[in-house]
Amino acid sequence: MAPNAEAYLRRVDRELRSLELRLQQLIRGTALQALAQLRDLLSSLPSDGLSRRLAYRQLRPRLETALIPLNETLASLLSLELHRFTTRARELAAQFAGITPADPVPLPAEVMARTRFLGRTLAAYFERHSPSQFMREILRLADRTVEKAILDGTPTPDLLPLVLPEATRKGRRIPIVRRGSIAYTALARINALITTSIWNVYSAESRQIWNRLPNLVAWEWVAILDPKTCPICRPLDGRREQSLESFEVLPQVHPHCRCVVIPIRE
Ligand SMILES: [Zn+2]
Repeated sequence: MAPNAEAYLRRVDRELRSLELRLQQLIRGTALQALAQLRDLLSSLPSDGLSRRLAYRQLRPRLETALIPLNETLASLLSLELHRFTTRARELAAQFAGITPADPVPLPAEVMARTRFLGRTLAAYFERHSPSQFMREILRLADRTVEKAILDGTPTPDLLPLVLPEATRKGRRIPIVRRGSIAYTALARINALITTSIWNVYSAESRQIWNRLPNLVAWEWVAILDPKTCPICRPLDGRREQSLESFEVLPQVHPHCRCVVIPIRE
């Protein structure tokens, strides 16, 4: 790796991480509210028996409606924050190359149309073909959990903690995001979406800036190496190619991917 790249990327990693945490905190309340609503809706199912399957089918459009505010809030949070972050990503990339960023920053809607998560743009991910892809993923978790409860004969009251567990403290109901619950998986999904989108903005903006460097001779794939680095990216780390086109894929290649291709100069 270029000698100054390692320290630079550590600094980028730290800065992006603090943005990730801030956005995760900002959306958490809205997410828990949506999940509490799903749980409350499911509490109206009959306690057991096969009539639950029909009742669930009738309830499902309301589950979908309950997810709309989360879909919209998360989409607008990401469009504003990623738009703002685009400027910063360019500054970081320009700093590394010792130049100044020149291009005008794209509008929030453009940022959503070019940032990718799992092969889709964020715009497509949140677009409501009733439901959106994002909502569909959470609804699929609900379908699976309810279907399993019906097959296993789990009574409805025991099903609810599988959606969003809660405890009562001083007379107040407090959500507990326990591993294995829908809430846990949904929040993990949202966190992956946030992390991957931030890195995608950073790495795409950087490539664009670095691609115009006059003395560019190669590109090197750099995975942020720490215990969180996944087996997909670890072997790619250090791979060099003469052009971006020579890589079969470019980051981000999976949820939570923190890879960047950096320029190698004469
Ligand atoms: Zn990666």
